[in-house]
Amino acid sequence: METLTVLLQSPDVMALASLAAGVLFVLGLKGLSHPATARQGNLFAMVGMALAMAVVLLHPLMSAYSFIIFGLLIGAAIGIPLALKTPLTALPQLVAGFHSFIGLAAALVAVGMYLRQIPFNLMETKAALEMALGTAIGMVTFSGSVLAALKLQGWVSGTPWGWSGRHVLNLALGIALIACTIWFTATFNPLPLALIFILATIMGVTLVAPIGGADMPVVVSMLNSYSGWAAAATGFMLEQPLLIITGALVGASGAILSYIMCAAMHRSFLSVILGGFGNAESVTPAAGQGPAQVVKQAGAEDAAFIIAQAERVIIVPGYGMAVAQAQHAVKELFNLLASKNIETTFAIHPVAGRMPGHMNVLLAEADIPYDAVHELEDINPRFKETDVVLVLGANDVVNPAAQTTPGSPIYGMPVLEAWKAKQVYVVKRSHRPGYAGVDNPLFGMENCALVLGDAKAVVENITHALKSS
Ligand code: NDP
Repeated sequence: METLTVLLQSPDVMALASLAAGVLFVLGLKGLSHPATARQGNLFAMVGMALAMAVVLLHPLMSAYSFIIFGLLIGAAIGIPLALKTPLTALPQLVAGFHSFIGLAAALVAVGMYLRQIPFNLMETKAALEMALGTAIGMVTFSGSVLAALKLQGWVSGTPWGWSGRHVLNLALGIALIACTIWFTATFNPLPLALIFILATIMGVTLVAPIGGADMPVVVSMLNSYSGWAAAATGFMLEQPLLIITGALVGASGAILSYIMCAAMHRSFLSVILGGFGNAESVTPAAGQGPAQVVKQAGAEDAAFIIAQAERVIIVPGYGMAVAQAQHAVKELFNLLASKNIETTFAIHPVAGRMPGHMNVLLAEADIPYDAVHELEDINPRFKETDVVLVLGANDVVNPAAQTTPGSPIYGMPVLEAWKAKQVYVVKRSHRPGYAGVDNPLFGMENCALVLGDAKAVVENITHALKSS
């Protein structure tokens, strides 16, 4: 047993295990890039994380096992019920909450490391720089993530809080942070570190507050990236190469995801990371304050009657499908339409639902074939040749105002051009707006009718009506 422990603790075995964990993380990220390989990717990442934890726990200098077990028990007691209870639709705020913990941990590690350095005159400049960066990135991540989680949960207004002069404020905060970092690394004085702590906390709020509505997905992925850099900074402080690798992978993949999402939504990446550059000028009236539109209503039977005559149908799933958990009912409808030789495809918007890939996950869960699921660029040209579009609990992602109303918070965001089809049925429960809080002119169009009701019940009723027709 002792020989085995000595062998496992040898630097070569530790280095090899660390390398294997790093490779497994990369394979995990690669697997997550496609729904078909996502499960396998998750498995790789989990094995990698287990290996990484083993490397840390078996380290010859490791002695504080009771602390670790205590921390694990507290974390598990909070985390397991939270993960079991949280519905998929509330995952973004849960993830934002988790990011805040990573940020806070990085800042607290930095402060803890500093307090351990007493007397301060023995400190190294490199260590001081790591502490300053850890505190700054950590606290920006912490306060930004807390605000993002509150916005996503709806506990504070999700609309962009624009105010003039915010860019000057962010610039001043950035300059003050750099100045305090230089001051701290030159003097090791506690005052600049305390100032970094406070200024970074304020900056997290001023960066995230002006972003809102339909741009929230980018905030989540951006904070994901920040949390990675915060973890990497902690890795430098603790001299843990594995934490540096993991943090850098999370930081880089989060930044790439933010970039991809910005490109998909026609937003400037720099504008978003600099705190919603340009959002304050939005002038669109809030929902209900624009010109009133006449909205037609239809029943599930009416929709079924028209669908039965169709050759091509496109289903546009959105957040409402996730709320209603309608994916299995949708699969039954899909099978029925296939048996009637009605070509049925799914149109997926990159920010439909409440997390990247939300709709793909739900459709995959219901075993809907991948080749029936199409991304925005592929499907948009096909709407004009489509007989019926069934918009299932989606709203912002089919809002033509994104193309027609300059000044709208969603203006410029690419949308699914459902209105180009012959007939559109929008399934939702009320006349309320979508996440961005703006009216949807699609509902008032000649070829559109609302089918009011819970998405799952309406789809089941359509299927039932089609079966009995
Ligand atoms: P929206 O939030 O725009 O619209 C969802 C619609 O679903 C609402 O109009 C709602 O209307 C309806 N709905 C809710 N529950 C049900 C139900 N049980 N049955 C039927 N309908 C229901 O969703 P979209 O998917 O169109 O757009 C996503 C929005 O979320 C975008 O603005 C995006 O930017 C934002 N977002 C996306 C994230 C992501 O990563 N994907 C993360 C954060 C925000 P009603 O209440 O009348 O039923």
